[in-house]
Amino acid sequence: MAKSISEFFGIGNTVRLTASYSIVCFFPICVLGIRLIENTQGYLLMIEEVRDRLYRIEVPLPNSPLKELNSYVFKADGRNLIIDTGFNRDVCWEAMQKGIAALDIDLSKTDFMITHMHADHSGLVTRLATKTSTIYFSRIDAKVFDKDNNWKDMIDYAQINGFPADELMKALQNHPGFKYSPKTIPEFHLIDDGNIIEIGDYRLKCISTPGHTQGHICLYEENKKIFFSGDHVLYDITPHIESWAYKINALKYYMESLDKVYNLQVEIVLPGHRNFFTDLKARIDELKEHHLIRAAEVLGVLGKEEKNAYDIAAGMTWDIDCESWNDFPVAQKWFATGEAIAHLHYLESEDRVTRNARQDIVTFRTN
Ligand SMILES: [Zn+2]
Repeated sequence: MAKSISEFFGIGNTVRLTASYSIVCFFPICVLGIRLIENTQGYLLMIEEVRDRLYRIEVPLPNSPLKELNSYVFKADGRNLIIDTGFNRDVCWEAMQKGIAALDIDLSKTDFMITHMHADHSGLVTRLATKTSTIYFSRIDAKVFDKDNNWKDMIDYAQINGFPADELMKALQNHPGFKYSPKTIPEFHLIDDGNIIEIGDYRLKCISTPGHTQGHICLYEENKKIFFSGDHVLYDITPHIESWAYKINALKYYMESLDKVYNLQVEIVLPGHRNFFTDLKARIDELKEHHLIRAAEVLGVLGKEEKNAYDIAAGMTWDIDCESWNDFPVAQKWFATGEAIAHLHYLESEDRVTRNARQDIVTFRTN
């Protein structure tokens, strides 16, 4: 069973290949070829052909437990397509430049598809896109992405959920979404559930999968049975589910979105981070179980007391190398609190906790 740890907290070792070029077939997932290129910032940049004219560039995400972003490149006779881009920071930019050059991709003939608004996926799109590029982006995420007050709303919501005021600005400054987003927002071609993107021999169906973000989009190639899962379903780590607004029941949406893709006929799942995998159903079963266990843990932390989300997060178990909650980096406290809120909203919708919003700080108790 794959290890189930939070996307933002999981830290494990990735085995690195050292050959400069090799044809490999990792049972049970076959890829066509792997090329490694030395990156000047000390990272080995891995590019592999996953399927005919479909490549993965591993974009390094230094100091992030995610390790890399999987950028998928379709090389076609007409327009090329790149799915997801990496953070807007030099090390990612350099990796993408080298990967694109190695694959001999002409950016003036390249379009982009961004699975969701998070900066590790969207960060470089403004810099990579040319005047002729179409940038496919979720209509729902675009509304949030475009909203100047989004961060302010999140901070206000964190504060009423018990996040200490003196830590809030530090949490924001350390948030990768704040640091590494595109500096300007390009013009998007907005997409909705069911839209089709055709590229070479591939026909990609957009599947709206709210949860990780409200507008998260997966892509499904029905004939070739390939599923691009973005951060909706990851294999080695558990997608981070957070909620920063009362009206958003992110975990409920997430569970429903897992059900939505459960019965797809899939031969290979190509996720936004870490390893490819084949058994989509089994992984979804694990993820659903994981969140039910976490929800039960929240109830256990509450016990008979009334607590705010920040204190509940402090009482939960996290896969992080820290002695105590006080030692957590403030950015990790932020992610933990967002995850606790998502579980509390879910439990409230299931009538298992009651929220008390009569004071400045919102608290919860079990029913
Ligand atoms: Zn991601």
